[in-house]
Amino acid sequence: MQKIAAGNWKMNGISTSLSEISLLAQRHSTSDVEILICPPVTLLGNACSLPGSVAIGAQNCHISRSGAYTGEISAQMIAELGAKYVIIGHSERRSNNGETDYIVQKKMMSAQQEGLTPIVCIGETLRQRQNSQTLSAIKTQLDGSLSSEAAKSPIVIAYEPVWAIGTGHVPSMSEIAQVHEFCRKQLKRRFGDLAVNIPLLYGGSVKGSNAAEIFALQNVNGALVGGASLKAEDFSQIILALEDA
Ligand code: PEP
Repeated sequence: MQKIAAGNWKMNGISTSLSEISLLAQRHSTSDVEILICPPVTLLGNACSLPGSVAIGAQNCHISRSGAYTGEISAQMIAELGAKYVIIGHSERRSNNGETDYIVQKKMMSAQQEGLTPIVCIGETLRQRQNSQTLSAIKTQLDGSLSSEAAKSPIVIAYEPVWAIGTGHVPSMSEIAQVHEFCRKQLKRRFGDLAVNIPLLYGGSVKGSNAAEIFALQNVNGALVGGASLKAEDFSQIILALEDA
């Protein structure tokens, strides 16, 4: 299984930040981990032109290929720049932009049609966790966000408990393991043997100090990292832990 360390810069970074990607490429030039940075769209083109093996992804795409959608960016446009991945259905987009599972599924399909690998984000809210609805929420999101053909092309799933994103709160290791095992089972139920090749990332307050224990868990194939991916120094610690896992 491909191990993936994905960084989501969100709305952070200007052109000087590109040096962080170059530093990562230098430090991990022989890594067996797929290192991926998803910068803001303003940096995508220049990031894709950097030398080195760090893959580049976008943070969102539109469901359509082109059209009268002011301010939007399509998967075709992202692919043309040389990006390989696109994050789809991040909880910030689900809550701030009203993205439903149906929209996430359409975006995921659009990404795959253009040869991009979608990183589909799912995760329960704090209320759902407190009401013991975590697994049912995950099941609903997985069922609704993935098309019936989803596993026939490369795809990545990121489990990101909403309450763990940017808060410093991380579920217990047994809670992460439980959800990842559940995701793997759900994917197998739906996609059969193809499901074994789908990388499952954990996301939510991953840092250098907690990465090793998270990566030691079964069915955790890497991480989607926000804050700790902005500086090469910090992200490197996480990548090193994944290299050793
Ligand atoms: C994220 O935004 O996907 C994320 C996991 O953020 P953080 O690592 O900062 O919690």
